[in-house]
Amino acid sequence: MLRNLLLMTGLGCCMAASAQFHTITPHAARYRIERVTQGTVGKTKEITEEAASAESSADTASMRKQWIDSYLSVSYPLKEIFVTSPFGVRTDPFTKKRRKHNGLDLKADRCETYAMMHGIVVKVGQDKVSGKYVTVRHGDFSVSYCHLSEWRVKKGDCVRPGEVVGISGNTGRSTGPHLHLTVRMGRRHIDPGVLLQFIDETRQQALEKLSDYNR
Ligand SMILES: [Zn+2]
Repeated sequence: MLRNLLLMTGLGCCMAASAQFHTITPHAARYRIERVTQGTVGKTKEITEEAASAESSADTASMRKQWIDSYLSVSYPLKEIFVTSPFGVRTDPFTKKRRKHNGLDLKADRCETYAMMHGIVVKVGQDKVSGKYVTVRHGDFSVSYCHLSEWRVKKGDCVRPGEVVGISGNTGRSTGPHLHLTVRMGRRHIDPGVLLQFIDETRQQALEKLSDYNR
């Protein structure tokens, strides 16, 4: 689009220059007009191609940056993701009764735990059930990282995706070291697996696009 516009502007200038030569020097002008016109067209074309090429590499750089930003806009909560207990109804490990598991458990033993997206730390606390926990709000929903051994953020902190919010552990109502994630939208718990899938898809798509630019 910009390339076409530049080309049209360039040709417009040549036509104006030709008309001017015709008006001022009608006899000798024919040869000069041709030379000037050809020269001008040639130069205009060269500049246009350079501009188009600069524009195209600027576009590529901007698109690459966009996909890098997209990749970095999300983070897995741990270096390695291994689900040990999914969201939903299960046999409670303490009571052995059927009960809804309000989050998702990941294998982790004193591992760095990362914020999954940009957000604000809204709670840093400890109770008998969740143990040490950190809750980060991401727009409409919030994520709690539970059974931690250490907190690494404080209430009110703004966290980037991939920033360490705590170290996983075995505090609270837990039968062994693991990371329990809960995702809440209003009062409703939603499956953290959906968020993990979103992170996975966002990263995969960004990697595919970036590899296209490297071809
Ligand atoms: Zn759990």
